Amino acid sequence: MSEVRRQVGLPPRPGWGWQDLAACRGKDVVLFFGPDGERQPEREIRERQAKALCVTCPVRGDCLAYAISRPEKYGTWGGLNEEERASERRRRMRRANAA
Ligand code: SF4
Repeated sequence: MSEVRRQVGLPPRPGWGWQDLAACRGKDVVLFFGPDGERQPEREIRERQAKALCVTCPVRGDCLAYAISRPEKYGTWGGLNEEERASERRRRMRRANAA
């Protein structure tokens, strides 16, 4: 498969090894993505809890780098929610363009 990716110019597949060390490993995925129909007050509480776990995570940088480099539209990744990741993505693009 990697040979095919090289031939057609697809980006390399990201490594997933960092997930083995993730603080969220085995946790309920709803903590990071939320249930359908979640209201804003509940979302804020849930995201705070997810982010508190992310702060302790030894692979937070890898997680955030992955989520920013891919179109991960939903959920808390690397301690940032969707809007925060979009903002961070724009900030990194501006910094890269200025360099
Ligand atoms: S930073 Fe947060 S979402 Fe990412 S692997 Fe760690 S605990 Fe999970």
